[in-house]
Amino acid sequence: MTTSSTPQKATAAGAPSGDLPPYVLTELTHGMRVLSGVQPSGRPHLGNYLGAIRLFLDLQARNQSLIFVADLHAMTTVRDGAALRRDSLELALDYLALGMDPARTTLYRQSDLPVVTLLAWVLQCVTPAGDLLRCVSYKDKVDKGLAASAGLLCYPVLQAADILLQNAEVVPVGADQFQHIELARRTASRFNEAYGEAVFREPLALVSATPTVPGLDGQGKMSKSYGNTLPIFAERAQFKALVAGIPTDSLPISAPRDPGACNVFRMLSLLAQPEELAEIEATYRRGGVRHGLLKGRLVDLLVERFGPALERRQMLARRPDDVEDVLIAGAHRASQLARPTLERVFDLVGLHEGHLGPRPLPAVPVVPSAFSVRQGWGS
Ligand code: AMP
Repeated sequence: MTTSSTPQKATAAGAPSGDLPPYVLTELTHGMRVLSGVQPSGRPHLGNYLGAIRLFLDLQARNQSLIFVADLHAMTTVRDGAALRRDSLELALDYLALGMDPARTTLYRQSDLPVVTLLAWVLQCVTPAGDLLRCVSYKDKVDKGLAASAGLLCYPVLQAADILLQNAEVVPVGADQFQHIELARRTASRFNEAYGEAVFREPLALVSATPTVPGLDGQGKMSKSYGNTLPIFAERAQFKALVAGIPTDSLPISAPRDPGACNVFRMLSLLAQPEELAEIEATYRRGGVRHGLLKGRLVDLLVERFGPALERRQMLARRPDDVEDVLIAGAHRASQLARPTLERVFDLVGLHEGHLGPRPLPAVPVVPSAFSVRQGWGS
């Protein structure tokens, strides 16, 4: 593990190719305030785990980590309140089962910190509308048929508010989110300039070095939108059925093969230890590959890796109130961390700090006599 406090280009094997923007880190940080949000949409798959969740888990050991369930963001697409409420809790369950430690990671639900929407409004007031209209993800989503709502358009500002509210230094994201991080950086500097004080810092992005996980069908990317995912919370029988469906070639067993062209090998390479993988690779090159056996090994590796998390998840699912308590405690902690920044912002923009909530009020509220009920309204 290395420390990165300054931006750097990708160097790790498998890191995203091409030049990365200067504000993107590719190596694990430590001693930083790290924040990321995840939308509660569908069951997590191997791509989510290797591309994002594992990074969050690795980061929590040596950073101050905040991870939130982005239910407000999900409202840009979800129109079923009961499903959103249920899926938000399910996502928290997933993270806790996979090893997120609430003592080390502040895990909270975005809507439990409603002041983030207030900050989003403050930030919208310094954001040029043109910047939002130019966001690629907005254009993509509208092209795919999503309603072009004001919420969808302003999504990146809400994301900037999530980040800036917590004064986060590092934001782990997928490459598709770089533009939003850039916008959060610009929003921070625009606010600072407009109000003449360096309230917000410009966050850095952190991208996972894991290459894109291919789909079960051999497509370039495993994704819910392509219907080719391998869910990570599954029983052996379900893993077996899904892995059995991975397409393979029909060459004779003895034929030498290019391992990189075989999806079973690509999956194995994400889960097997290097020594075992080297042996399998050698078999591909000299001939003798039995796909049935390798698929069986892949199933074993999946069960080994995710079986304990499945058990833990089943146990936690029987205690939804405890999960709820974790989220509420996380929101309190997140609220405390955000407080100094919010106080500064409210003061600068001219809002009343009473909206900030839980600062203890003086024991006896002092009611100015002009507002005293005893005088009688209108008398
Ligand atoms: P999504 O659910 O598609 O929004 O993905 C959430 C996060 O999981 C993304 O930001 C990526 O970092 C990661 N991810 C999703 N699919 C893959 C994949 N096939 N390979 C690697 N990472 C992925």
